Order: sequence, then C-alpha cells, then structure tokens
Amino acid sequence: MPTFPEKKFKEWFLKEKRALPWRENRLPYSVWISEVMLQQTRAQVVVSYYKQWLQEFPTIRSLAEAPIEKVIKVWEGLGYYSRARNLHRGAHYLVEQHGGELPSSYEELIRVPGIGPYTAGAIASFAFGKKAAALDGNVMRVLSRFFLIEEIVDLPKTQEKLREHLLTLLPEEAPELVMEGLIELGALVCGKAPYCLSCPLKGECRAFAEGVAEGLPRKRVKEPIVKLHRHLFLVRSQGAVLLRMGGKGQIMEGLYEFPYVEASAEASPEDLFRQWWEEEAVLVGVLPQEKHTFTRYRVTLTPSVWESERQKGMSGYEWWPAGKLRELPFSSGHRRVLERDYDVLL
Ligand code: SF4
Repeated sequence: MPTFPEKKFKEWFLKEKRALPWRENRLPYSVWISEVMLQQTRAQVVVSYYKQWLQEFPTIRSLAEAPIEKVIKVWEGLGYYSRARNLHRGAHYLVEQHGGELPSSYEELIRVPGIGPYTAGAIASFAFGKKAAALDGNVMRVLSRFFLIEEIVDLPKTQEKLREHLLTLLPEEAPELVMEGLIELGALVCGKAPYCLSCPLKGECRAFAEGVAEGLPRKRVKEPIVKLHRHLFLVRSQGAVLLRMGGKGQIMEGLYEFPYVEASAEASPEDLFRQWWEEEAVLVGVLPQEKHTFTRYRVTLTPSVWESERQKGMSGYEWWPAGKLRELPFSSGHRRVLERDYDVLL
C-alpha cells in the first residue's frame, strides 16, 4: 500500500484550492445545494446558479415553502431536473423531521429524500468536519490511480473497495481537508489527462510509478449516442401559444415544451403538422434548426410556426398567453427556440 503524504497534501490543497463561493462558508445548507449542483455541472457554470438559488431560497424552510414551479424555474438551464425536484422533496422532509436543519451524521443524512451516499458524505465532511467518504468521479479517478486499482470502476464492488481505501486516507484531524482536497486534485491535476509532475502525490502514486495513469480508471463501455430529429410546432391562436408539460416520471417533468413529433430530418414539417393537427391552420414559416443535447441524446429541432383560428383543446396541452411564455420553465432546447424566435410568437 502506498503511504499517503497527509501533511504535504493538506498544504497543497490550502495553497491551490479555487476560490469558489460555496467555500466562503461551510454551512450545511450551502454545502448541500452546491454539491447537488456540482454533480453533473462544471464549477464555473454552477457559480451563478448557486448565488441565484441562495437569493431565492436562503433557508431550507424557504425552499420547502416555495412552489415547485418556482424551484424548477430557478434551476432552469442546469439540466437533470430531478436534482431540483429532489432538493424540494428533501427540504420538505427536513422541515417535518429535523426542524428545517440538516442533521450531522451520515446515517441520518442518507435518509433525506434525494441525498445519496456522495452528498451525505460531502455534507458530513465539509459542513460538520466528520470522517466521512464522499466518493465522486474525481475521487474515484485519483484513488484508482493512487492505489493502482484496475477493476472496472463502475461496478458496486469496486466502488466499495475505493470507499474502504478512501476511509484509510482520512485522518482524525481535519479529515475534511483531505476529503475536499482529493476532489480538488481530481478537478485540477489528476484529470482525464493527468499533470503528474505538478501533483503532490507523485512520489507515492502507484499508477505514476508504473506509467499507467492515463489508462485508469477502467470504465464500462458507454451506451451509444442516439440522434433524434424533432419537428416543433409553434401554434399561435388569438394571442396564445400551445404548450405541453413533461408529466410525472418523464425526463422533462415540470418543464414546458412546444408540441413536437419525432420524424426523419427529411420529413416535410407541413405534412407532419397536418397529420397531427387535423384542422385548418396556416403555415407562417419554417424556422432555422436548433441543436439540443441531453443525457445521451443529440436532438435536432426544426421549428415551424402555425396560425390557427380556433384554440383547439388537446389532452396534455395548454394554451398560454404569448406574453407569459418567458416566465415559464422550459427545457433548454425549446428555451433557445423561444428566445431566438420570440417575436414571431407575439
Ligand atoms: Fe493522479 Fe498523477 Fe497525481 Fe497519481 S501522480 S494522483 S496519476 S496526477
């Protein structure tokens, strides 16, 4: 087993850590919000969302009391919206069970809806100074290299092994500095292409010694990218626009979108619309395409604008006054179409 150079590592972290707003105070609520936002998003992108969130919902209680639509709206653009819904659910639970505060133990934190092992470990460690493991992608990469672990890193038993190794690195005194330092090392130095010569662990790191750092961690082969083509219908009628909302359990739950059908890129927007609408409507125009990416989908959006005399009623769809559209939470691709082509909807 390599020896972990604790003193040198803590000094490196205190000197090199980035000045990020959630590091200015380590209040449990701030840690919770920042860690959830950082799970799928780069730190530089998170900064403005984090500040805005704390302005809108300065306490757990204020988050619990806010309507879910507002929570989704403030989250809009960060993607993976289940994170926002889980924060809201978690806030309700904390108000009911813990007087609106986060508990300090890992065991209690993990019971909060939406808080998984990583976030529970991060809160227990960063906010309460506990010896708790927060194993994210950065830490997995560092550990699998430092200890030269060649098993597939996505497997639960490998993650368990990494967690055990991680706990052996956390000291009794200020374990949170080592924990957060490992995350920072993964973000700044031990990235996909590691800068081993600038690394405080290079003297002890087994992967560096063996010259195999870039090949680790080993991962399962990724699911292939799926390309989709969606024809969006921007239907106007009497100053209103037809929208649909992602239902419960759908990827776009709580977000508005324009109606669309999936079809090949070559399909005629006019033919598709008329098959779908089955009533008189006038084609105002076909707009330029927009690209949109979520999870493993690469979507091309082709919007066309239509004018209908009648506000036809359709199950799962609602007519919204055109002047109100910008106040609604939209999925990111449809939001770009809305902002780009807003004038044509008025
Ligand atoms: Fe990562 Fe290289 Fe440092 Fe090892 S020496 S922890 S591979 S950056």
